[in-house]
Amino acid sequence: MNQMVPIMDVPIHNVTMEEATDTVIDFLSSNKSHTVFTPNPEIIMEAQKDKELMECLKTANLVVPDGIGVVIASRLLGGQRLPERVGGFDLMQNVLDRIKDTKIRVYFLGSKPGVARQAAKNMEKKHPGLQIVGTRDGYFKPDEERELIDEIKRLKVDLLLVGLGAPRQEKWISDHIEELGVKVAAGVGGSLDVMAGVVKRAPEIYQKLNLEWFYRLITNPKRAKRMLNLPIFGCKIIFLSLRTKYQK
Ligand code: UDP
Repeated sequence: MNQMVPIMDVPIHNVTMEEATDTVIDFLSSNKSHTVFTPNPEIIMEAQKDKELMECLKTANLVVPDGIGVVIASRLLGGQRLPERVGGFDLMQNVLDRIKDTKIRVYFLGSKPGVARQAAKNMEKKHPGLQIVGTRDGYFKPDEERELIDEIKRLKVDLLLVGLGAPRQEKWISDHIEELGVKVAAGVGGSLDVMAGVVKRAPEIYQKLNLEWFYRLITNPKRAKRMLNLPIFGCKIIFLSLRTKYQK
C-alpha cells in the first residue's frame, strides 16, 4: 500500500484512481473485512471536532480524497503530493464495472425509500452481469438495525455501499464492520441518489474544472451552511503551509 499523506491529521492514501480501484478489487479477493472512506474538505473539518469520526478515518483501510480541495491542500502543505482527486462516485463505478460477471455480491444501503432499489436497477443495466443481492433505505430505526445486519450476513454480501451521509455512514460502518462479515464496506454519501437518477451529477464542464462542489452549492443552497467549512478549511491550510515554510 502506498504511503499516507496527513491532511489535518486525517491520513489520506497516496493513490491514483486506478490504484484505488485495484486496491478495492484486492480487498474483495481477500478474506478480511475492509473499510473505505472518501473524505472531502467538509468531512476533514468535521473530523477536527468529532473524535469518533477522526478515529474511523484513522483506522480505515483505504481513505481517498473526494475533493480537489484535499489534493490542493497536500500540495500547499509541502509534504508528499496527492496525485489526483479520487471521487467516491467514480471509484465505485470503476469497481462495479470490474466486478460485473464475477460472483461478488453487492448490497446498496442508504438514501430515501425506493432510491437504493432504483440505483440497483440502473447499475445492473449499466454494468451487465453485476450481482446486486439486496437494497435497503437509510431511514431504518434503531430497533430495525439487528434485522438489517442479519440480512446482510445471510445474503453473504461481499461489497456493501453505505450512503447514510457523513459522519453517520463512517461511524455505522466502523461500528459494524466485523459482524457484517463483508469484505468491503464503503461510505458513498449521496452516490446512490446519483446512481438512481434522483440527483443529477454536475455537468462535465464543472467536473473538468474541478468545480463540482460549486455546482452542488448553487443547485442545493441548503448545503451552504455545511459548505461554510470550505473557506475555513482553505484558511487553515494556508496558515499551516505558511507555518511549515517559516519553520524550515
Ligand atoms: N441519508 C440516509 N439516512 C439518513 C440521513 C441521510 O440514508 O438518516 C442519505 C440521504 O438520503 C442522502 C445521503 O444520505 O442520500 C447523504 O447525502 P449527502 O449528499 O448529504 O452526502 P455527503 O455530502 O455526505 O456525501
